[in-house]
Amino acid sequence: MTGPLVVRTREELRAATEGTIALVPTMGALHDGHVQLMKHARPLAQTLVVSIFVNPTQFAPGEDFDAYPRTFDADLERCAEAGVDIVFAPTVDVMYPDGLDATVSVDAGPLGQILEGAQRPTHFRGVLTVVAKLFGLVGPDVAVFGEKDYQQLTLIRLMARELCLGVEVVGCPTVREADGLAMSSRNRYLEADERQLAGAINAALRAGAASGREGGTAVLAAARAVLDEHGITPDYLELTDPDLAEPVPGREARLLVAARVGRPRLLDNIALNLGGN
Ligand code: AMP
Repeated sequence: MTGPLVVRTREELRAATEGTIALVPTMGALHDGHVQLMKHARPLAQTLVVSIFVNPTQFAPGEDFDAYPRTFDADLERCAEAGVDIVFAPTVDVMYPDGLDATVSVDAGPLGQILEGAQRPTHFRGVLTVVAKLFGLVGPDVAVFGEKDYQQLTLIRLMARELCLGVEVVGCPTVREADGLAMSSRNRYLEADERQLAGAINAALRAGAASGREGGTAVLAAARAVLDEHGITPDYLELTDPDLAEPVPGREARLLVAARVGRPRLLDNIALNLGGN
């Protein structure tokens, strides 16, 4: 198994890529969820690029930027496993040539202010700005993102469409542990007892989805009951339509949750069918 080529600059990237390009952006500390995105992306283009960059502008002061796990050598092995051609691992200078306070950035609009955005007001500006830069540097035809970060996927799709970036954005289902916990680079910070408790987040979403036919109020009540039973107070537990607008009875909906369990903040979401009125 030959490993991917590691490149750090736009020039190195340009020299190494050929034909159509698929991009999987990541912050490293790769797990099976990331590998699934890579395997999904592999047949979509001739060259498969994975970017590994812990993006400072999507972390607010006091968040875990410094403590975010960095496991580059193991990451290269995971990329080799999935048939990745190129790992783009830029420095902060390559990504932010005019510094972190450069004057131009991408405004995520109103959907960037709800859910995660209400908790982390600068987060999606940082995410969309770095993804736009990665699209500019890598020049992908297609880019693959996980449904695990559902609001992020929604906003990146909107950005690509509204800013006419010419990149097809593809979403991939969430990869989970046996008890339903969504895989995440931050799960490694869960202590053993917290890890057990963390399974309740997905259990709550499943309970909510199972009540879909009874309508939105029942969905939220069923999910909240499971969280309460485990002593988990969510930052938010909200029901939306698939585009993060108001849910519509009789249609598909999304139930989204974020909760801190021990040190990490965990996110999850589930699709469900809402009963009609
Ligand atoms: P991150 O490295 O956490 O920024 O994530 C990079 C990409 O992997 C994003 O598109 C995430 O949504 C996706 N991702 C992270 N965890 C999972 C998972 N458990 N299942 C599917 N995709 C995931």
